[in-house]
Amino acid sequence: MANSAYGEVGARLEYKHPGDITQKTVRDELIASGAVDTAVLFINEQFKLNQAVIISFGGNDGPLFDAQRNSIMIPYTFIDEVRHRFEQANYDKAGVTPEQATEDALLHTIFHELAHALIYMYQLPVLGKEEDAADALATTLLIEFFDDGQEIALSSADLFDLESDDRDVLEDEDFWDEHSLDDQRYFSTLCHIYGSDPDKYTVIVKEGLLGEERAELCIEEYAAISQSWLTILNTYISDNKTDTPRQ
Ligand SMILES: [Zn+2]
Repeated sequence: MANSAYGEVGARLEYKHPGDITQKTVRDELIASGAVDTAVLFINEQFKLNQAVIISFGGNDGPLFDAQRNSIMIPYTFIDEVRHRFEQANYDKAGVTPEQATEDALLHTIFHELAHALIYMYQLPVLGKEEDAADALATTLLIEFFDDGQEIALSSADLFDLESDDRDVLEDEDFWDEHSLDDQRYFSTLCHIYGSDPDKYTVIVKEGLLGEERAELCIEEYAAISQSWLTILNTYISDNKTDTPRQ
């Protein structure tokens, strides 16, 4: 992290006082796992942020990016809820435990909020839904910069899938929401994972998770969306591209 004449810039962590014993457990496990330290290290190594961005855990609101405070807010209760979803689903995809899946989804969430932060800080152009663009950046960063990035993104896709199970009936408010539907976020993320390496992820088509024709288009779609993001961020990304190991 650079200390410039203009003060401290870059990402840093803040853990708010937990409201109860459950939140305290979440906080303690979060600190012990080192998962978010990896995210902060990655952001500060790869991005030349010209302002301080606080990743703040705790509180009641979020996950969200608060532009006034230049802060990414993630409640302990959100993390607890994610863990519960994976546990209740007996999540064990290719040996990924609910704990690991929760950390994976948290990384995706942090990078999704980072996208909002970058768009705000650098007044980046956004063509289309900002929420979709933010999901795409999160998936792109994981795939392009992390060992096992596709697997990390897969856990987050699966979280959208689990979240979509909550709703039997879709209301108008689901459609006017600034986010795409959970099912759409699930399939889009799956599409980008497939598109990034169709040979490795033939199983996605074989199992019928994506139709063959759609999957074919995902190859160009991922190339376009990841390139668009990396081009737009080119000025703000450091040159030394390194792979970050999964925690
Ligand atoms: Zn968002």
